[in-house]
Amino acid sequence: MSLTPEQNAEIDELRSNPSETLRVVSEGMEKHLYHAIPVLDHGFVRVIDYMGDDAAICQAARVSYGKGTKSVQNDEGLIRYLMRHWHSTPFEMCEIKLHVKLPVFVARQWIRHRTANVNEYSARYSILDREFYIPAPENIAAQSAVNNQGRGGALEGEEAARVLEILKADSARSYDNYQAMISQDGQEGLARELARMNLPANIYTQWYWKVDLHNLLHFLRLRADAHAQYEIRVYADAICNVVADWVPAAYRAFEDYRMGAVTMSAQMVDCLRRMIKGETVDQDTSGMSAREWREFKEMIDS
Ligand SMILES: Cc1cc2nc3c(=O)[nH]c(=O)nc-3n(C[C@H](O)[C@H](O)[C@H](O)COP(=O)(O)OP(=O)(O)OC[C@H]3O[C@@H](n4cnc5c(N)ncnc54)[C@H](O)[C@@H]3O)c2cc1C
Repeated sequence: MSLTPEQNAEIDELRSNPSETLRVVSEGMEKHLYHAIPVLDHGFVRVIDYMGDDAAICQAARVSYGKGTKSVQNDEGLIRYLMRHWHSTPFEMCEIKLHVKLPVFVARQWIRHRTANVNEYSARYSILDREFYIPAPENIAAQSAVNNQGRGGALEGEEAARVLEILKADSARSYDNYQAMISQDGQEGLARELARMNLPANIYTQWYWKVDLHNLLHFLRLRADAHAQYEIRVYADAICNVVADWVPAAYRAFEDYRMGAVTMSAQMVDCLRRMIKGETVDQDTSGMSAREWREFKEMIDS
């Protein structure tokens, strides 16, 4: 991951001018502010701004519960109660603004999360950098034999080298042609908004992404999950570490009641109860499809 000298200078400048504030400050988040966390080969995530902390979640919740919260011993207990019972709006009181640099094919998955505000680098206005995501050798994986939407083991030897060569050559050739087509000094050239159309989806883009904590946790639940594609998962993992420092109690509750939790259907709960009572239950007597039964077994056996 490389930051431009201008970006490094901007980070130094921003961090060298702390100002006093009466607003809530999360100590864990202050250390992240402006710094870039490297992700993939050229990407990063950095916190540009944030609002609120664990206490802000509780403050908002207490508006709705009033004296009712007196029975909850402490803020962490209240946050865990809110998370457990899907009382989500207090989590919306916290916000985060991130600067993310990411390959376009990752951005296409990311942008599906509609409950955020986005401002992206304009390839109509500016020329894109010659930066392409080329997977590390261990991430050059074969198509999964069991999951159409996933990958299997890593390609090895000549096969891996052949794929890497194609990726690098195609990236270089398309960027050379992009440069050759765009308007340069002394020639009219093609408009940037048109020249970009031959660039591959592994080229990097950048955006500012602002989201509230509730919707961020929804994003992380889906994208830090083992089923998410590796290339977006590493961004989600990096953001998870930031959130753990920003709102530690909320993050612990999220780990316990979302990431580490499982959802069971009525049939699954019924089977589990029967099994606890000593009954031998198999797929035929479970009332579940083969796939659902397999998923159920994975939940209770792992
Ligand atoms: C492993 C995985 C595989 C996927 N595969 C595919 C795929 O093959 N094809 C594909 O197209 N997508 C795919 N997706 C994207 C997925 O379908 C969602 O679009 C994405 O995860 C965003 O989720 P969301 O809509 O809940 O999030 P957000 O857009 O952040 O929305 C959050 C919640 O707000 C509500 N909401 C927001 N906007 C609206 C709206 N306009 N109308 C109604 N309710 C709204 C919904 O309750 C939603 O759950 C995949 C996602 C994952 C994690």
